[in-house]
Amino acid sequence: MILLGSTGSIGVNALLVAERFNLSVDTLVAGNSIDLLNQQIQKFSPKRVVVRNAHDVVRVNHPHVTSGEEAILEAIENSESDFVVNALVGFAGFRPTLKALECSKRIALANKESLVVGGAFVDTSRIIPIDSEHFGLWYLNQTSRPISRMVITASGGAFRDWAIKDVANATLLDALKHPNWSMGQKITIDSASMMNKLFELLEARWLFGEGEYDAVIETRSLIHALIDYTDGSTTAHFAHADMKLPIAYALMGEVNEPLLDRIDLIRIGSLEFREIQKERYPLWELKADLLANPQRGVIVNAANEIAIERFVQGEISFGTLSTLILKTYSHFSQEPHCVEELFAIDEEVRAYTRALR
Ligand code: NDP
Repeated sequence: MILLGSTGSIGVNALLVAERFNLSVDTLVAGNSIDLLNQQIQKFSPKRVVVRNAHDVVRVNHPHVTSGEEAILEAIENSESDFVVNALVGFAGFRPTLKALECSKRIALANKESLVVGGAFVDTSRIIPIDSEHFGLWYLNQTSRPISRMVITASGGAFRDWAIKDVANATLLDALKHPNWSMGQKITIDSASMMNKLFELLEARWLFGEGEYDAVIETRSLIHALIDYTDGSTTAHFAHADMKLPIAYALMGEVNEPLLDRIDLIRIGSLEFREIQKERYPLWELKADLLANPQRGVIVNAANEIAIERFVQGEISFGTLSTLILKTYSHFSQEPHCVEELFAIDEEVRAYTRALR
């Protein structure tokens, strides 16, 4: 495989799966974590390596190291492997997704932003999602029975139990205390604001087509997806909160040995479901409009990336993060008709959100 983002939360788990099932690694792509990358090189002997910054190349213990965004695209093009695992974070993952498709490769896609911004321009038949909720939907959706609704679950993120009045002033450290999952910084903030679930609804819409989609909080992250059938039945996908399961399916198509402990219902005792309230998660306001106009994902994604950047730099409060995104979303009405337009809209939206006071 060509593994983009090998040193991140998904990348590290993908390599654990690769080690366990003896899968070969052709290319490793990483950002700043050079020490971890060197350990991965020693263990997996990739043919080529790409890092984010040119000044890090000399620190990498490998004879074929390149750097920068173009180098990632070249590595995808030049590799003999026809399988890309895209675990980059944010819009930076979109061009590599397009390049992999252009080169007729299959993609195991953790980089959900690729679908959020450009689902309309992506051949989803070549994509296998690495996201527990979409894996859950796929796992349940193996019959031809008519479906009335697909539901994904949310943990509720770091602030689900906070007094609503305190959430607006929460710090970065507070936002990073995810109750159930250990993940990268951006997606953990996206979970706290509920943006992550909006992204996943869009992702589901592109992957599974038009239909009714919704999300509900399940506080223990043991149920990842539910399908309501027309006949009134509902099925639910249970599994422990561990990305190795969706990753293993994405990499191998099937898993026929025990990977996770099974769910012990007696130990669990009970589950709690909650509605996603707009008072606690102001961004939830966008759900209906985004699902009706999924091409507007590029606007919400660009606004979100800039608002997160400003929040992480301590420039704005957590409450302002949502306000800026909502303001930006209502300011723009464009929908991209081609990839070039998409990149232009992305840039325009970023500049707007950056300048908002
Ligand atoms: P992380 O921040 O943990 O990892 C991101 C990875 O991308 C790191 O290896 C980072 O390198 C690398 N990277 C970032 N920018 C560049 C760049 N410009 N050039 C080269 N490498 C770069 O993120 P996650 O693993 O949490 O998430 C990755 C994607 O998967 C996101 O889109 C997220 O939404 C999605 N996802 C994550 C889940 C999870 O459980 N974590 C679950 C489902 C989806 P370095 O660390 O060396 O700087």
